[in-house]
Amino acid sequence: MLEELKKKVADVANRLASEELVRGASGNVSTRDEETGLVVITPTKAALGSVTPDILCVVDMDGNVLEGGKPSSSTKFHLKIMKNRPEIKAVVHTHSPYATAFSVANEAIPVINIEVSSKIRGDIKVSPYAQNGSDIEAENITATLGKANAVLMQNHGAVAVAEDLDKALLNSFIVEEAAKMYSIVRSMGSTATTIEPKK
Ligand SMILES: [Zn+2]
Repeated sequence: MLEELKKKVADVANRLASEELVRGASGNVSTRDEETGLVVITPTKAALGSVTPDILCVVDMDGNVLEGGKPSSSTKFHLKIMKNRPEIKAVVHTHSPYATAFSVANEAIPVINIEVSSKIRGDIKVSPYAQNGSDIEAENITATLGKANAVLMQNHGAVAVAEDLDKALLNSFIVEEAAKMYSIVRSMGSTATTIEPKK
C-alpha cells in the first residue's frame, strides 16, 4: 500500500545520505498520506543511502504497524508532531554536523537569513535531552518546535517538518546551512545580526 509515497520516502532518505546530513543508520524520514491518514516511515536501524520502498513501514497515527518490520525508534515524535500540527505531513530527522554541534552546545540558532525567516519561521530552538524513542522525548520536541518548522534535539540532532517531503528535505538543508553560517560568523569574532521571522 501507499507505493508512491514509499518511493518518495526512499528518495528523500537516500538524498539525506548523499548530501551527508546523515551517516550509517542515523536519521529517519516519514510522511502522512492525506487520504488514509496512514504514515510511511523508515524502519529502525535502516542505513539511509540504500533505502528501497519495500523495506519501509506503514503505521497508523497510534503507532500500530500495518506493514513492514519494526519502524524507526523516532516514530513517537514523528506521530506526535503530526498530531499536534495537522498541516504537517512530512518529518525529517538528521544528525547533520553543524546543527548537531549547536544541539550539543544547547544553543538555539536565531533567524539569521531569509531562508530561516521564510521557511523555518522562527528561531531553531533546542528541545531538552530525553531518552531516544521515549514519550518525554516526543513531548519535548513537539513543545519546543511550537509553530516553527525546525527544532534541534539536545545532544542528538535536528528535526525539520513541512507540508510535504520535498519541503521538509529543503528545511533540513536550510537548518544545516544556517548552523554552518552562524558558526562561521561567530568564528570570525563577529556577532550575528538577526531578522524577524516571516508571519
Ligand atoms: Zn537520531
